[in-house]
Amino acid sequence: MPSIRLLALFFFLFFSVHSQEDTPIARFLRYLQFNTAHPNPSYADPISFLISQANAIGLHARTLEFTPSKPLLLLTWPGSNPSLPSVLFNSHLDSVPAEPSKWIYPPFSATLAPDGKIYARGAQDEKCIAMQYLEAIRNLKANGFTPSRTVHISYVPDEEIGGFDGSAKFAESKEFKDLNVGFVLDEGQASTGEEFRVFYADRSPWGLIIKATGDPGHGSRLYDNGAMENLMKSVEVITKFRESQFDIVKSGEAMNSEVISVNPVYLKAGIPSPTGFVMNMQPSEAEAGFDLRLPPTADPDLIKKRIAEE
Ligand SMILES: [Zn+2]
Repeated sequence: MPSIRLLALFFFLFFSVHSQEDTPIARFLRYLQFNTAHPNPSYADPISFLISQANAIGLHARTLEFTPSKPLLLLTWPGSNPSLPSVLFNSHLDSVPAEPSKWIYPPFSATLAPDGKIYARGAQDEKCIAMQYLEAIRNLKANGFTPSRTVHISYVPDEEIGGFDGSAKFAESKEFKDLNVGFVLDEGQASTGEEFRVFYADRSPWGLIIKATGDPGHGSRLYDNGAMENLMKSVEVITKFRESQFDIVKSGEAMNSEVISVNPVYLKAGIPSPTGFVMNMQPSEAEAGFDLRLPPTADPDLIKKRIAEE
């Protein structure tokens, strides 16, 4: 099939030309190829790449390791007045997992499709931001600009799983204190246009797990206080709350980031059988997980109380 072979050759040429060039897009594609997905993100390889980029631009680089095998990269662009508080740009190295079978292109192939779209896990969250910091500094340096304040960039591990071994330990460290940071800019959001949006507040994530218990019984019987029934009652309450919040967004009264979002992320219930689940048995336990996000305007204690009451 010559046409398919030709197409494959076209893709190969298209991709290899782009990945060998030393352009912002080519550098971005190279950074996207590191498999940084949990549960086993590669940290050493992307850090070596970032260090080579830092060296090329003329930034100081050092690696800190607060937890073994979880390095943090710190780049520094000295300012003309180092006594001023510094500026820190933060970015995380890791990405959420991908389901490769559901991708048009493999998630870490960093494919630049003929329509100009780039496909890669972590491209928006947030490898694009990691590379934008470097590209911006590269341009500023090329134009002879020197900042008065020292600029640092931190590339932290484990952000997607809570950051306990990454930014949490960094923020507590002597190394961080010594940076004399006056202003931090963390990840924003990928932008499809020329503008770069920054945010001054973020929602705090809560993992809400509801574990329901109840009387086990035959699937043919109607009775009160079954685990699944109890769970479904809670799910109904949460679904109604979710709708009320989403309605506020849909009506234009508030933005997505201003309401409390809650989304179901897993369900765990049923008695496994060789062919799936036992169909004529009501289980004694059932569980559901929700991703809850609270804007700074929501009172966490009030939400805790409401969840307990419901
Ligand atoms: Zn992120």
